[in-house]
Amino acid sequence: MATLLRGLLAVVVLAAGVGLSARFLLTDVPPSMDLADAGKLTTISLAPISLGNPAAAAALKVRHPDTPLDAPSPSRNPPAYGYPLRVAPGDTLAGLLVGAGVSRDEAHGAVTTLDKLFDPRRIRPGQEITLRFRPALDGAENDHFLGLIVDVDYRRRIAVTRTTTNDFRAAEEERALSRTLAHAAGTITANLFDDATAAGVPAAVLVAVVRAYSWDVDFQRAIRQGDRFEILFERFLDKTGSLVYAGGFVFADLALSGRRNPIYRHASEDGLTDYFNPQGHSARKALLLTPIDGARLSSRYGKRRHPILGYTRMHRGLDFAAASGTPIYAGGDGTIEMAGTNGAYGRYIRIRHNATYSTAYAHMRRFARGMRRGTRVKQGQVIGYVGTTGRSTGPHLHYEILKVGRQVNPMKLKMPSGRKLKGAELARFQETRSEIESDRAALTPGTDFAQDE
Ligand SMILES: [Zn+2]
Repeated sequence: MATLLRGLLAVVVLAAGVGLSARFLLTDVPPSMDLADAGKLTTISLAPISLGNPAAAAALKVRHPDTPLDAPSPSRNPPAYGYPLRVAPGDTLAGLLVGAGVSRDEAHGAVTTLDKLFDPRRIRPGQEITLRFRPALDGAENDHFLGLIVDVDYRRRIAVTRTTTNDFRAAEEERALSRTLAHAAGTITANLFDDATAAGVPAAVLVAVVRAYSWDVDFQRAIRQGDRFEILFERFLDKTGSLVYAGGFVFADLALSGRRNPIYRHASEDGLTDYFNPQGHSARKALLLTPIDGARLSSRYGKRRHPILGYTRMHRGLDFAAASGTPIYAGGDGTIEMAGTNGAYGRYIRIRHNATYSTAYAHMRRFARGMRRGTRVKQGQVIGYVGTTGRSTGPHLHYEILKVGRQVNPMKLKMPSGRKLKGAELARFQETRSEIESDRAALTPGTDFAQDE
């Protein structure tokens, strides 16, 4: 995933510049809208879309009035002006203020006040901060510092303003944003990233789509030419109509080898936002912790005295004692990346579930029919049978969960739950789903209601 994100970073600017030929649906942001999934996105998606000119941040000493924030006044008070600063790597907020001509005392006062609502250390390179000044009348002294505005994320900003008693106070403001839904669809000709980007899907949205599907789809292997994608994503525009954020999606469908996989965003009553298929099954799935029925956990993960070698060593899996021939299930959907004899592991299968997780199964007596490198398996499918091949004292399954190629303790793993909505929650989901479907129909006349699968 790390390389994937790095690659996507490179196309963020490109994607933001791609003209969208898609249709938009303009709605006001409902106050109840759940943006929890936005928080799960990477920081790149929360960064302002326009990355601007970082070099501007270097030239801090010279200050020019930018946008007059107050109407020109006939009185002796000249209009206040906003002075935008771009945060560069290594900058501190206090340093930026002092660099812009604010006295150390005033900078300290403003930063301390801001800290009540927003940790000043959380400012990020590329972020824009607006300082407010009123010009000094005689030009002999520095302009009068009035405060600053920090955009916390795409919809919230914090304003620090000077009070009449010359202190500072901080207040959070919601930006007035309108929400549009954009629709993009296409056929894979090269790869999902290039084709979806060409169709106008922002990189941050693609990251979220790939993440949502990562339990079902192996993006390095499963996507083929001719497969289709469809994404309904959100865009938030400010008063001037500029795009300030595009990172969430409400619907996606990947048609792989003709088989559709529609998913819908739904915020359940417990406050969790997740993606579900039309049956209300979570797109994210847990790996099985016990990929075998009726077996006894005979050895846990951790240090133990090895029964054959006699010395203490790490046991990097779980052992389940079971009768020879007991079926072993795939711990999750995935692709077999190794099936064969593997030294002390004996007959061994390793399944790749997504970019992060694999599972391994050792000491099998035999494999189930058709199990070889490249075979796609479903969670719970029988992949082989318990045996005692390799370095083993008796029939048992040695089961490993690997995270980015390294064994981890399955009992301590925090995995997404493979939720299945039921009852009232399922009914609420079906309502969400039909709302999403009518938005989708409004943007794509002639598209059928996604009710297959
Ligand atoms: Zn073992």
